[in-house]
Amino acid sequence: MRVEKTPQREALIRSAYEFAEIAHRGQKRKSGEEYIQHSLHTAMNIAHLGLGSKTIAAGLLHDVPEDTSVTLKEIEKTFGHEIAFLVDGVTKVGKIRLRGEKEEFYLENMRKMFLAMAADIRVVIIKLADRLHNMETLDALPENKRERIARETMEVFAPLANRLGIGDIKARLEDLAFKYLDHKNYEYVKDIAEKEFGLRKKSLEKTVEELRKELLKENIQVIEIYGRTKHFYRLFQKLQRHEMDIDKIYDLAGIRVIVPEVADCYETLGVVHRKYHPLVGRIKDYISLPKPNGYQSIHTTVFGPDGKIMEIQIRTQKMHDEAEFGIAAHWVYTEKSKDWMSFLKFGKMNRKFSGEELNWVKQLREWQTDLGKDDTEFMEGLKIEFFKNHIFAFTPRGDVIDLPEDATPIDFAYKVHSEIGHRAMGAKADGKMVTLDYKIRNGNVIEIITSKEHKNPSRDWLKFVHTTLAKTHIKRALKKDGLL
Ligand code: MN
Repeated sequence: MRVEKTPQREALIRSAYEFAEIAHRGQKRKSGEEYIQHSLHTAMNIAHLGLGSKTIAAGLLHDVPEDTSVTLKEIEKTFGHEIAFLVDGVTKVGKIRLRGEKEEFYLENMRKMFLAMAADIRVVIIKLADRLHNMETLDALPENKRERIARETMEVFAPLANRLGIGDIKARLEDLAFKYLDHKNYEYVKDIAEKEFGLRKKSLEKTVEELRKELLKENIQVIEIYGRTKHFYRLFQKLQRHEMDIDKIYDLAGIRVIVPEVADCYETLGVVHRKYHPLVGRIKDYISLPKPNGYQSIHTTVFGPDGKIMEIQIRTQKMHDEAEFGIAAHWVYTEKSKDWMSFLKFGKMNRKFSGEELNWVKQLREWQTDLGKDDTEFMEGLKIEFFKNHIFAFTPRGDVIDLPEDATPIDFAYKVHSEIGHRAMGAKADGKMVTLDYKIRNGNVIEIITSKEHKNPSRDWLKFVHTTLAKTHIKRALKKDGLL
């Protein structure tokens, strides 16, 4: 996807580049490359997704405050609040680390927290673009670091890309992580895929040529037509479901045809079926009946030129862009039934859909419909409002507790369970003792020290607690004991 080039946009990107180049000058990546190469690749990945000049500029600047002597203030002075806000968001989420554990609920909490702290979807996208280049240059790092980063990529970043509907980045992150996490299977699948693709290459090329001719004859404009193959990790997952039998996988390689209008899709399908015999029961019309995640295309499996079975996908440019780059589609539709509901009901969070949250979903959905329009900074103003003024803290088990800004360990304790609140005696934040009126910071692991014998909510707590929940519980307990 492309954003129209204007002199102002070009000037902004150029000055962000120059600023970053000077700031990073003399720094090298572990690979030996100049540091600015990393900033440039990150920015390129962002541009490829069709984001505007401000996000590209923020991508160029994303490592400046963390890794150079230039401060965020100076970035703000030069480039304004919005770009500084994005850079700051990237720096903040960069501090979230996958800890030792691997349980699904913990990972889900990581993803949630990541989104919460990002506060703006553009921050998440910059971070994905940054991670993509880091994965591409992972060889330069020592082995123990490689493992952690690859695991984080597979379990946090690829699912985030998926949730935002950025299929292209998801696939690339998964394949890169797969290579480091399960090298043996990666090589195995890569061999199969290359061999099979090699075997089919000729017939794919022949099909592309034949179809191009037929479509021209029928006066159907073809935007793009090309042979494609499944990405390795996806293929591995599919093989696992089919006893590792490659012959059971019909969509390993295929043809994709991109045409202007929906009507062209159906006409193209007719042309394909006149030319090649379709396999019975393998025609899927996801245009009339989109997948739950909003995915649209027509798929059909046919006997190609040499009798070889292949899948043909037909879609419009808009459908294609949404599948490759469309953000939020998965989050809003697919995950509504699974993750989205558990997101709201998760663990102690047990919240119902509130008006505020529905608004947030609506906002994402509206914004998603805007995709494809050549809106320059189409992401501007898209803030995750719901998460504003929220902080997220962990229990020692990894549960996420969401709290308002300035919340204290007592608020935290009551949010976990009223008994924990009543019996609270002390608290630790990230392993260090803190006072009960300590202001919890995003990402803190909070441990509440409780008394086994006594319930002792104190009247003083009312002076510093922030949540209504804590206030209500404390007052009720005090009243019961005749203290209020
Ligand atoms: Mn970076």
